[in-house]
Parts: sequence; structure tokens; C-alpha cells
Amino acid sequence: MPQSPPTPPTNPDDGFSQDLLSGLGKLLVGGSLSDPNIQAQTAGDVTPILPDANVVKIGGQSMMDRGRKAMFPIVEEIAQNLSSHQMILGTGAGTRARHAYSVGIDLGLPTGVLGVLGTFVSMQNARMLHYLLAKHGIPFIEPIQFAQLPLYLVERRAVVFFGMPPYTFWQQNPAVGRIPPHRTDTGSYLISETFGARSMIYVKDEDGLYTADPKKDKNAKFIPKITVAEIEETDFQDVVVERAVLELMKNAEKSRSIRIINGLVPGNLTRALDGEEVGTLITAD
Ligand code: ADP
Ligand code: MG
Repeated sequence: MPQSPPTPPTNPDDGFSQDLLSGLGKLLVGGSLSDPNIQAQTAGDVTPILPDANVVKIGGQSMMDRGRKAMFPIVEEIAQNLSSHQMILGTGAGTRARHAYSVGIDLGLPTGVLGVLGTFVSMQNARMLHYLLAKHGIPFIEPIQFAQLPLYLVERRAVVFFGMPPYTFWQQNPAVGRIPPHRTDTGSYLISETFGARSMIYVKDEDGLYTADPKKDKNAKFIPKITVAEIEETDFQDVVVERAVLELMKNAEKSRSIRIINGLVPGNLTRALDGEEVGTLITAD
């Protein structure tokens, strides 16, 4: 005799009661994640994860590529600040990445592959910075090791990482051309935002933002403080940080200001870490 088919469960949610969910839980489980009304309900206080840490990006072309003349003093200044400040040190990629991009573009390689190349060049710089700081017990960490970051910061006060966001092949195409739009300024910035860092400091080779690139325009004027909106209104030919950083700052929950300082001037990093007004402060509002 054929067996009768099993009876379907009377309650399709068998074993799981919607009553266990919070109001937001019900909305997210049952609604569309693209619904602007539901999205609006996901706003709220974001927990600062590492509020004492400062993200410090050491420029590639502007600092590392200048060799010992630029790097030895800044390494010494980093070391001097270990007792007073926690630092997450990101590195730029610089001239070698620009060369790699030019060869990659000549060979017809896509933005995602150029992103891979840039990542490895910023890794070279991170390795060099790491070995210069090694005697202070500062580790180099890759993205996969960020889970250990809190321990390293408490124990050794600083870590070195490569500034590129680890998008590699997933790097988005720029609006024009093929250079990866999210590079080491952006990767460093996103770390400051995610961890709710105390500050985001860019160490470069100019005093901060000018009305034009001071290397090309002798009449360029220094700007001590400016908002992202003012930069957009002013139609700058070029700016001192990646444009993507300014774009990301608009939606920042935590990292709503960045500071750009001249790392070739002794004492500037210390002043910036101490919260003094040095260089240019760019704010989201
Ligand atoms: P990094 O070494 O961190 O990658 P970049 O070389 O990409 O830094 O960016 C810093 C450079 O940006 C400065 O050396 C400067 O010549 C240039 N720059 C372009 N536009 C401006 C501007 N409006 N104000 C200041 N610097 C600018
Ligand atoms: Mg750069």
C-alpha cells in the first residue's frame, strides 16, 4: 500500500518565533534592505572601537621615496611618541606604483589588476617602515591580522600596515581612465572611520592643502582649515589627498575630519598627535 505523503508543518516558521525579534529585527528580516525607510532606521550611535588610536599615513612619493633624509627623522619622531600616542601607521605606494601602473596600462591590464600592483608596492613601503621600527617591537600586519590590532596597540603602541584597501580585483573603475581610485589615502582613511580612531593624520611633503599644487604654482596659497563642501565649490585643479577620501568623508559616522601635515618639518607629527593646529584640517561639515 502506498504511503501517504508527509503532512506539511502547520506553522511555516516552525521553531522560530518572530516575537523574538526586535522592532528593527522584524523590519530587516521581513523587509527590503533597499527600502529607504528601513535604511533610515539603521542609523544610530556607532561604537568607537579604538578611540585612542591615531591613524597616521606616511606618504609614498612624498615621504618614503625621499629615503633616509625624510624617513629617519619621522621614524625617530614616531618612536618618541610611542609613550604618549597609539598609532596605526599606513604606508603610501608612491613612485614605483606609478611606474607599475604605466606598464600595466601599456599592457592593457584592467583597474582591478592595477589595484593588485599598487597593493604590493604599498606593502614594500610598509615592510621598510616596519623594519625601521622593528627595534621598538612594532609589528607589520596584513588585513587578515587586524583582529590582533587591539592587542598590539596596547602592548606595543603602534602597528604598520599597507595603506591600500584590500580590494585588489574588486577595485572599482574610476570615472575616467584606469588608475585605481581607492588607494592608500583611502585605505588609511577607512581604517580611521571603522575603528572610530582619535585622528586621521596624513604625513606628506607640503604644509597642507593649498589653492593649487605648490610644486607647480608658486602663487598657491596655504589653507589652514576648509570643509569638504568648500573644496567642492572651489573647483581645485588638484588636491593633496585622494578625491575618494573627501567623497567618503561626507557619509562618515566617526572620522569627520582629517589633517594633512608636512612630515619634512621636525615636530609637526608630534604637534598633530597632541591635537595642535598644524597643517590643514579638512572637515566633513
Ligand atoms: P603620497 O606621497 O601620500 O601619495 P601624493 O604625492 O599623492 O602623496 O600627494 C601629495 C602631493 O600632492 C604634494 O606633494 C603636492 O605636490 C600635491 N598637491 C596637489 N594639489 C595640491 C594642493 N592643492 N595642495 C597641496 N598639495 C597638492
Ligand atoms: Mg598619493
